[in-house]
Amino acid sequence: VNLRGSTIVADLTWTGARFERDVAIRVDENGRISHGSEAKAQESQPVVRLKGALCPGFVNAHSHAFQRGLRATRQLFNTGAGNFWTWRETMYRLADSLDVDSFYEESKRAFSEMLRAGMTTVGEFHYLHHETASWEFDDAVIVAAKDAGIRLSLIQTYYATGAIGKPLEGAQNRFGPLSRDEFQKSFSRIADKLDPNTQTLGLACHSIRAVSLDDVSYFRNMAAANCWPFHIHVEEVRGEIEDCLAVYGKRPMRVLLDSIRIDESVTAIHCTHCDGDDLREFASRGGRVCLCPITEGNLSDGFCDVPLLRNAGGQICFGTDCNIRLCAAEELRWLEFAQRLRREQRGVIVGEGGSSAAGLMQIGTINGANALNLPAGAIEAGRFADFFLLDLDHEDLRGVPDDALADAFLFGCGNGVIKQTFVGGRQMTRVG
Ligand SMILES: [Zn+2]
Repeated sequence: VNLRGSTIVADLTWTGARFERDVAIRVDENGRISHGSEAKAQESQPVVRLKGALCPGFVNAHSHAFQRGLRATRQLFNTGAGNFWTWRETMYRLADSLDVDSFYEESKRAFSEMLRAGMTTVGEFHYLHHETASWEFDDAVIVAAKDAGIRLSLIQTYYATGAIGKPLEGAQNRFGPLSRDEFQKSFSRIADKLDPNTQTLGLACHSIRAVSLDDVSYFRNMAAANCWPFHIHVEEVRGEIEDCLAVYGKRPMRVLLDSIRIDESVTAIHCTHCDGDDLREFASRGGRVCLCPITEGNLSDGFCDVPLLRNAGGQICFGTDCNIRLCAAEELRWLEFAQRLRREQRGVIVGEGGSSAAGLMQIGTINGANALNLPAGAIEAGRFADFFLLDLDHEDLRGVPDDALADAFLFGCGNGVIKQTFVGGRQMTRVG
């Protein structure tokens, strides 16, 4: 199914805070929405009737696609409890075992599964660059996204130290940029390989433990000069905070606040253990936060202070990070559930009219698009025609009225209710 050049009318359409009936949308020949909800069907254009509820595609703002390979690993704790650092050893074994073909296959599997979950864009925080010295995994991740059909924001990632001031060790050598200069050169090389219709660039420094302050500041400026989003992992686990305090005398978020310009183009991933004042300042300066609830649960990270962040005006998006499970609805419900469990209170994240679904859909769609600086994440004129369609005949949604559909989907369903996904107006997944 190709929606380009058509006016489409679905049974229901998500217009930002609710589903509405009989909304007409026009998709242009380039795969963008040319008219939103005000569009009227014209005789010169065919009207495509879509059976189901049309939603803007989810934007997954943070992924390491290859880590999906860990799904094939047992969660075995026969010699004592694990934590983030023991998980990281397992991940390093995976990273060290991949060649360019298996890296491509695993990445493509992850991207295809994201599409089946209604995610039409991925922000791929890409730091596994090579087996040897040839950056061959950069090319592989670009081709994998293209072959799967997902929109890619390739967040090219700098990873230069094993811990603060320490050399890379073992599998980390595959992350190494070799030098600042080599890393910069990688951008011009990959820029030529990107599909201009579906692929864009971003820049990340992996974390304060993996990049010197001098380099963080240098690359943050490089991202700004190119209008690229700048992403960085911040305070996911306590160990990295202790190391940072020992070397810099302050916590990672404070180090960033004191050393780089923070604005809307900066996204901090996790912020699990950030000090309240630091987090408030980061949000008030425009910084965005990406939370990855399933990964944070899987890795036993802890809880971000979401209410504080929201009160400070911070915009939250979501990521699937380690990709052990790819289900946007589940990420969003766990974003809210974790806060409910922590606070013994329901309705922590709410949108227009106090609606959980409206609040969570915004995090799942337009906030992620903002974090990747892309015109996506909403059914509005000028944005990409990236959608997924909910199957209203699915038994999991039986008996649900229009006004509770989004809640029923986000809190009660898996990917089985998503019957079609469109990127740039073209169908990327099969029905059923
Ligand atoms: Zn991550």
